[in-house]
Amino acid sequence: MAFKHVNVEDLYDIGGVLGSGHFGQVRTLTERSTGTQWAGKFIKTRKKASSRLGVEKGAVEREVEVLQALHHPNIMALKDVFESRAEMVLVVEFIDGGELFDFIAEKDNVSESEAIEFLKQILQAVDFMHSKHIAHFDLKPENIMLSVKDAAPPNIKLIDFGLAHQFKQGEEYKSSCGTPQYIPPEVINYGPLSTATDMWSIGVITYILLSGLSPFQDYTDEDTLKNILAMKYEFPEHIFNMTSDLAKDFIHKLLVTDPSERMTANECLIHQWIKPLTRKQVANRNRSSINMKNFKKFNAKRKWKMSFNMVRMCNRLLRLQPRCSPSSAADEHLRDCESDTEDTVTKTASLMRRRLSSST
Ligand code: ADP
Repeated sequence: MAFKHVNVEDLYDIGGVLGSGHFGQVRTLTERSTGTQWAGKFIKTRKKASSRLGVEKGAVEREVEVLQALHHPNIMALKDVFESRAEMVLVVEFIDGGELFDFIAEKDNVSESEAIEFLKQILQAVDFMHSKHIAHFDLKPENIMLSVKDAAPPNIKLIDFGLAHQFKQGEEYKSSCGTPQYIPPEVINYGPLSTATDMWSIGVITYILLSGLSPFQDYTDEDTLKNILAMKYEFPEHIFNMTSDLAKDFIHKLLVTDPSERMTANECLIHQWIKPLTRKQVANRNRSSINMKNFKKFNAKRKWKMSFNMVRMCNRLLRLQPRCSPSSAADEHLRDCESDTEDTVTKTASLMRRRLSSST
């Protein structure tokens, strides 16, 4: 795809803000020639390599490359890219249904069978992505949206490929990016990553979806990371009393320390919880359900935390702006890895590693 060097305003009317990230904003776009709605991801790019503000151009180019390789009904499609000296604009499919978790939180009752219909679409998208040797590396509720809210059945769309990576043959890739609650031990240990890294996150998302509890989350990020390394999680009976045994088995096979032992997306799709073999298994899925009371609580807290972090991030940006001194290489790396408005893992993960290595 050739990058366009004209202004995005020449071809599109720019509308309201749909969301924000550390890169800039996502806004609605209306294509003048057709009237079609799109979303524009406006990313401020760094003017100089030493500059503190903006995203490195190479990082945006990698995000574009990944999106170009991914044509799938459950993955946000890329239409066009505009480039100017200070900004790049990714024109992408407009996703109108909001976040999956918000959609579920509005319901009174959701059976496991209904939850599986969503999970299946997520797994199909991830299976497709992994077949192209691409890992997302930031799977979490904020990045799972619905194309249209009231469609039956609702259609999942995965978004935000800002941390995604396409593996070359035999390549060893390490990164400490992600969001504490959802990252596997190999990210904290700065070990080699693979597509299996995403599968751990799917285990965490499934656990939360069914229970409204986050399996490893603790009061501080550092304690959350410790719980992950210690594999400290359980299925408390008073929370999981509506959950089927097959659902727990599914999660167990994803929250596995050794990445090579985790189920792949393809294996998940034929796990008997997702693809039942007997009538009894089907009946069990219909009888079991999401713990809605707890799920609604989790989601309300998550939304509150997101807006709190957004305010905190804006304040931090305001404080940063007057300073233009070149930053150290380590600082550059930290900012590159910051994963949107949720917790910022990089600092915590490296802090954790330092502590762990100094204590052993
Ligand atoms: P970041 O890379 O900072 O995480 P995202 O790509 O996740 O940024 O976008 C930030 C927010 O913008 C999302 O959480 C979502 O609310 C909104 N958003 C992103 N892409 C779209 C889209 N295609 N359609 C509608 N809203 C979107």
